[in-house]
Amino acid sequence: MTQLLLATRNVGKLVELRRILHPLLPSLEVVGLADVPEYAEVPETGATFEANALLKAREAVRYTGLAAVGDDSGLTVEALNGMPGIFSARWSGRHGDDAANLSLLLGQLADVPDERLGAAFVCAAAYVTPSGACEVVRGEMRGRLVRAPRGTNGFGYDPIFLPDGFAATAAELSAADKDAISHRGVAFRALAEIIVGSA
Ligand code: IMP
Repeated sequence: MTQLLLATRNVGKLVELRRILHPLLPSLEVVGLADVPEYAEVPETGATFEANALLKAREAVRYTGLAAVGDDSGLTVEALNGMPGIFSARWSGRHGDDAANLSLLLGQLADVPDERLGAAFVCAAAYVTPSGACEVVRGEMRGRLVRAPRGTNGFGYDPIFLPDGFAATAAELSAADKDAISHRGVAFRALAEIIVGSA
């Protein structure tokens, strides 16, 4: 069975990519970083989501020899000129501290008028093969921020993000409903078509 490496330790992302790819390519086994010999992960030094996704995928191919997917995502806020953007996971200074990141962001937006609370979740996903071929795609979920967190599903900034066309925050949606419209879902589905086309 051919393997495809998703360069992440996030089980949620792994499950999501498997769910999208399996019906299209049942003979492809999607594995994560926990399933391959450990290597020093590359720092996210890129200036864009796309650059970071490519860095992760290229490094994964170099260390494992497997075809690989790298992804990078975050929240872009209109009033903050697109920030936290690529710094979303470490906005408060501590990588992965969702509660601190969310509360810092809400504090920064306290005096910003409602009409400038437009925001979007963005995901770039890169596919790199051992022969060096690469493709990068981008998915977005547009919406606006609310000032008080609502809902307990999801993670990160989900409780303060109202996707366009929904009265519920992303943390009040079921996983399946969020997948159907999410930045990651859009990017992974686009990448799946490319992978299928190249198989
Ligand atoms: P990464 O793509 O794993 O580097 O995640 C970047 C950061 O962006 C996460 O730590 C979250 O703070 C934020 N983020 C990315 N996608 C989502 C999402 O679907 N919901 C909420 N926060 C997200």
